[in-house]
Amino acid sequence: MLCAPQHSKPASKPAQGGYIMARNAIVTGSTSGIGLGIAKAFAKSGMNVVLNGFGPADEIERTRSELAAETGVTVLYNGADMTKPAEIEALVKDSEAALGSVDVLVNNAGIQYVCAVETFPIDKWDAIIAINMSSNFHAIRAAVPGMKERGWGRIINVASAHGLVASPFKSAYVTAKHGVLGLTKTVALETAQNGITCNAICPGYVWTPLVENQIPDTAKERGISEDEVINTVMLANQPTKQFVSIEQIGETALFLTSDGAANITGTEIRVDGGWTAQ
Ligand code: NAD
Repeated sequence: MLCAPQHSKPASKPAQGGYIMARNAIVTGSTSGIGLGIAKAFAKSGMNVVLNGFGPADEIERTRSELAAETGVTVLYNGADMTKPAEIEALVKDSEAALGSVDVLVNNAGIQYVCAVETFPIDKWDAIIAINMSSNFHAIRAAVPGMKERGWGRIINVASAHGLVASPFKSAYVTAKHGVLGLTKTVALETAQNGITCNAICPGYVWTPLVENQIPDTAKERGISEDEVINTVMLANQPTKQFVSIEQIGETALFLTSDGAANITGTEIRVDGGWTAQ
């Protein structure tokens, strides 16, 4: 279901002899955190955006309408569940029908579950593989034909430092994120002559509401201070000893949609404060 299109911004960038149409983007998992940051960066640059993800309907509608009012672009919402291939395909098709095209696809929706492999719940494994990895395949599969037809597309998969290195107790997440990097390279090769790029962003620890909300509970659980949670648990692997910001991921994604990034394909950009350089 696509909700309440606002007025459309038909042209964003001057081109030789006239104007080119604004680009249209889908960002999965964009009702909070990194996805919302990417959606905001895109909308501020003049792209029309389809938001996706879960949350209270009134909060999602407020986010959607405020972003549309602030930027003047069309902002839609589609509640497709990333565990359901048919809903993912419909997300792409409905967005194409509503906006005319899907030029930029950001596969960002993700969940986490932390547990030793021998007791890892099977339903959690299945959900993480579906949302964090297979949904990327289903969305790409649906979006590539239109991109090929128009000879232009940008696919950005939000992977993780855990697409490159592992941590204990995150078997499903690390498996899914490594899989996303394999998919990224394969799609890049298949679309290299169609004006399409496919890349991954690999964030380290990003300061999202999800991360922030864990701090008091983790402090209580471990019997340490909130500062110690941040410095000795969360930032142990991050040489900068700083969280990556949502805005920094948004700017990285925006760069990957630019003409300057047209020859960057099949690779990952690490935004991890040096984590994977170690
Ligand atoms: P978040 O929990 O703030 O956002 C996750 C989004 O995914 C939400 O909008 C949520 O509603 C949506 N979502 C969850 N399940 C869904 C489903 N079945 N269908 C549709 N949407 C669904 O998390 P975040 O920290 O912003 O993470 C976003 C992405 O960034 C994830 O892929 C995550 O693995 C990746 N990442 C996050 C960090 C970090 O430190 N926060 C680091 C590396 C990678």
